[in-house]
Amino acid sequence: MTSTLLRGRTLTFLRSPDSTDDHGAFRYEEDGGLLLRDGKIIAAGAYAEVASQAGEGAEKIDHRPHLLLPGFIDAHAHFPQMQVIASYGAELLDWLSKYTFPEETKFRNAQHGRRVARLFLDELVRHGTTTVAAYCSVHKQSAEAFFEESHARNMLNIAGKVMMDRNAPEGVLDTPQSGYDDTKALIAEWHGKGRQRCAITPRFAITSSPEQLEMAGVLCREHPDLHMQTHLSENHAEIAFTQELYPWSKDYTDIYEHYGLLGSKSLFGHCIHLSEREADALSDSGSVAVFCPTSNLFLGSGLFDYQRYRQREKSLRIATATDVGGGTNYSMLRTMDEGYKVIALNGEKLNPLASFWQMTRGNAEALSIANMAGTLDAGTDADIVVLDSRATPGMRLRMETVETLTEELFLLQTLGDDRAVREVYVAGKPTKSMMVGSENE
Ligand SMILES: [Zn+2]
Repeated sequence: MTSTLLRGRTLTFLRSPDSTDDHGAFRYEEDGGLLLRDGKIIAAGAYAEVASQAGEGAEKIDHRPHLLLPGFIDAHAHFPQMQVIASYGAELLDWLSKYTFPEETKFRNAQHGRRVARLFLDELVRHGTTTVAAYCSVHKQSAEAFFEESHARNMLNIAGKVMMDRNAPEGVLDTPQSGYDDTKALIAEWHGKGRQRCAITPRFAITSSPEQLEMAGVLCREHPDLHMQTHLSENHAEIAFTQELYPWSKDYTDIYEHYGLLGSKSLFGHCIHLSEREADALSDSGSVAVFCPTSNLFLGSGLFDYQRYRQREKSLRIATATDVGGGTNYSMLRTMDEGYKVIALNGEKLNPLASFWQMTRGNAEALSIANMAGTLDAGTDADIVVLDSRATPGMRLRMETVETLTEELFLLQTLGDDRAVREVYVAGKPTKSMMVGSENE
C-alpha cells in the first residue's frame, strides 16, 4: 500500500475564529506533515512526528514554503453556465431569459454536457476548489455527464438535475412527473456511488409550478439524507413576481416552507432581502443561506448582510459560493475578496481567519460534510490545496512586509487567484499534471 507524505506549512480550522488573533480556532504547523493513504489523510501534525509514522516506501513531496489547506468548497454553482459567464448588461430575470435559458437548452445534447462538465471540474480544481454543490440543466443527461466526470476524478460533489416546468422556453422544461422520475433515477444510479451525492434541485419558485414544488417536497421526505438546493430572495423583481405566482404566501420563504423544503440539508442561494420572519424561519429549520458575492454584485442584486445574519439572536447557517455563471470567477479566493467588500459596504469587516474558515470548514459544516472534507484532520478525505503567497511579483513584494499568518491570508485573499494555487490533491491524488491536455482527449 503506497502512501504519500506531504511537507509544508499546514493550516486547518477547529471552529469559526472570533478575531484576527484567535489562535484557539485553528491548528497551524510551520513545519507540518500530512500522511495520505487510500485517498485519506491518515496522520497530520508536526512533520517530524508524521514522518515517523510513514513507512519506508512513502513518497515524499516537499511543498515548503507553501501553505497546505483543505481544498476549497463552493456551495453553489451552475456548471452549464460556463458560456454564460461574462454576459453583459442584465438583471436576474432578463439575464435568465436572455442568456441562461437559451444556453441551457444545449445540454439536451449529452456530448455537449460531457465536454462542459469536464472543463467545469478542471477549472474548479485549477482554482483550488475540490467540492462543489452544482446545478445541472433540466436534462437528466446533463446530471449524468456531471456525475460521470466527477466520479472519474473521484471528487466529493453534490449535484442535481434542475426541476423547472414553467416560465422558461420549451427546451428547458420538464413536468412535475418527469422531474420527479428523473431525479429518482439519478438518485438510484449516482447517490452514494463513490463520492457522488445527489441533490433535489427545484430551480426556484418562479420556474416551478405548485405541483412541482409539491413533488420536490415528496422527494425530500422520501430521501431525508439528500440535499435540497434552490434560490431565494435574490432580487426585487424576482420577489414581486414570486409573490404574484403564490398570492397566498406570507413571503417568499413561506412558499418553500409550505412545500416542506426547509431543513438542515437545504441550501438557499442568495437570501439577500429576507424579512426578520424569513430569517427566523431559516434559522429555526437549520437551513443554510448561501452568500454569492461576485454574482450579487455583477447582477446588481444587493448586499448580503453576512455579519448581521451570523450575529442575530437566531443566527443563520451560512455558506459561500461562486454562483458561476452569475458569479464572475471560479476562485473562492476572488469570491471571498468580493465578499469582504460586500460586508464592508454593510459597515463591517470580515476577519481573514474567519474567511478562510468559511471557505473550508465553514462551508463543509454548512453542507454537513465536515466529517469528510474541509479540514486536514486525520480520517478525512485527502482534498488539499497548496497555496503560494508569492505567486506574482506584486504578491512577492507585498509579502516582504507581512509579519503574521493573518496578514498573509488576507494578502492571499485580496491578491490571490488561480496563480496562487500550486497543487491540488483530490482524494490524495495530485491533479495538476492530470489536467494537461484534457480538452484534447
Ligand atoms: Zn444560482
